[in-house]
Amino acid sequence: MDNETTKNFIETIIDEDNEKNTYGKRVHTRFPPEPNGYLHIGHAKSICLNFGIAKKYGGITNLRFDDTNPSKENTEYVESIKRDVKWLGFDWDDRMFYASDYFDKLYEYAKKLIRLGKAYVDDLSSDEIREYRGTFNTPGKESPCRNRSVEENLQLFEDMKAGKFADGEKVLRAKIDMASPNLNMRDPVLYRIVHASHHRTGDKWCIYPMYDFAHPVSDAIERITHSICTLEFEAHRPLYNWVLEDWDDPEGQKPRQIEFARLGIDHTVMSKRKLRALVENGHVSGWDDPRMPTLGGLRRRGYPPASIRNFCDRIGVSKVNSTVDYGFLEHCLREDLNLNAQRTMAVLRPIKLILTNYPENKTETFEVENNPNRPEDGTRTVTFSRELYIEADDFMEEPVKGYFRLFPGNEVRLKTTYIVRCTGCKKDDDGNVVEVYAEYDPETRGGNTPDGRKIKGTIHWADAKTALDAEVRLYDNLFLDPEPETGDKDFLTLLNPNSLEILTGCKVERGLQDAQAPRSFQFMRLGYFCLDNKDSKPGRLVFNRSVSLKDSFKPKKK
Ligand code: ATP
Ligand code: MG
Repeated sequence: MDNETTKNFIETIIDEDNEKNTYGKRVHTRFPPEPNGYLHIGHAKSICLNFGIAKKYGGITNLRFDDTNPSKENTEYVESIKRDVKWLGFDWDDRMFYASDYFDKLYEYAKKLIRLGKAYVDDLSSDEIREYRGTFNTPGKESPCRNRSVEENLQLFEDMKAGKFADGEKVLRAKIDMASPNLNMRDPVLYRIVHASHHRTGDKWCIYPMYDFAHPVSDAIERITHSICTLEFEAHRPLYNWVLEDWDDPEGQKPRQIEFARLGIDHTVMSKRKLRALVENGHVSGWDDPRMPTLGGLRRRGYPPASIRNFCDRIGVSKVNSTVDYGFLEHCLREDLNLNAQRTMAVLRPIKLILTNYPENKTETFEVENNPNRPEDGTRTVTFSRELYIEADDFMEEPVKGYFRLFPGNEVRLKTTYIVRCTGCKKDDDGNVVEVYAEYDPETRGGNTPDGRKIKGTIHWADAKTALDAEVRLYDNLFLDPEPETGDKDFLTLLNPNSLEILTGCKVERGLQDAQAPRSFQFMRLGYFCLDNKDSKPGRLVFNRSVSLKDSFKPKKK
């Protein structure tokens, strides 16, 4: 590593390991999702970190499904996770594994621990085990089964595997120290009985290893060097190391656990349990609802993968939990789309503008740049004629102070075409404006005034003759409360009732006719929009607003 300034604490640890030759200079990481839900932006942080750091050091990264909990896991989640990791831009090559690949090895290793007198079968119920564990202030109590002979333990463990006991009747526990100040070291459970079919091993097993046992052993089997996990596992690290004490690595290289702070973002929730509750209670349309912080949701919202990678890189890694401003995620999105999204015009809340002095059957065309930031993206043709649509709020019959758009007597520029002067409007019986009238100035083609008179307002428009109808979905924060996940708040009561607004009858340029997801556009003056990857089809255009134009993100002063 040559760039000292950008080094994070994990890289510093890797540098030290390389210097000491702990792993023969290997860097081998893994991303270990549990296939019990869809990936979210927090997982993206972990993916970018694990794959990113290995890549930086010329190392490799495994994808490993941590599938030790048969009742909650299934292949639908496995497939969605694979797709999301690939979409984010990472590749595990041929290194996709499952903890369940190692069930035989885990079982053998557990027997080794029994033989070494380091594990025993316990008859206590889970409630009793909890009771015996003690508290931070009081030591735990040893189970009456703790001193069973090795032979008896081996036999009982085999009987557990053979299905001779019901769920919860017995467990295999590590024999460590019931008085340890670290509660995780008070004879933690290594194996439990679960009579449930596993999505991969079927009914072969009715005992399943606990995460704290399966994880270090899986890391060791795969010869992972740096096992990066989130901060809540810090107190489990002594157990991680204890589990591997008797593991034989061919080169004596045991993986090392390193913890970093998990990513939290304001105005949303990140726990899979809570995300599932949002889906199951119908608060969102699914795991990929564009308001969800899932990768599927962000993709549907119009986040290009690079914008998420950029976000994850820029928030950095830390040892202290903190919440990142949602505005910063949007800032990274905006940066990407500003550079890459095609510009176009759309009118979301249309009202007719009639240019009374423009010939009825005439149509003019204008050639406009697709993206001022990318001249290579070329130009497109837009049509202009007597009847146009403008945004309803770009007209006011009686303007308020500082209003520079259309009002009777005032001139505005219709983007790239002509200057028009408003002459009045027509209202319905209820007093609602239904049409606005104006006269165009033929001398101002291209939007310039030959006499140099100043035009303060420029508004966008759509040609009524050629515009296409579209549905547009506008989004706001899913939660009103900035921290719906902290404390014991009832997060479902903190939802923003106005997080989705659906507009129909919007007018967009004809050129968007054949556009397909995942294309993004900047609708001038309105924001960045993308085609909805589920509901938009040829003949039915549906757009999601990815983000508004204006950046509200202000870096916090330190
Ligand atoms: P949950 O508690 O919501 O079920 P999890 O952490 O158990 O989430 P896993 O599927 O086990 O979800 O996570 C896979 C990997 O992603 C783990 O290494 C975990 O540490 C990491 N991860 C999960 N959430 C975050 C987050 N918010 N920030 C950073 N990393 C995360
Ligand atoms: Mg987990």
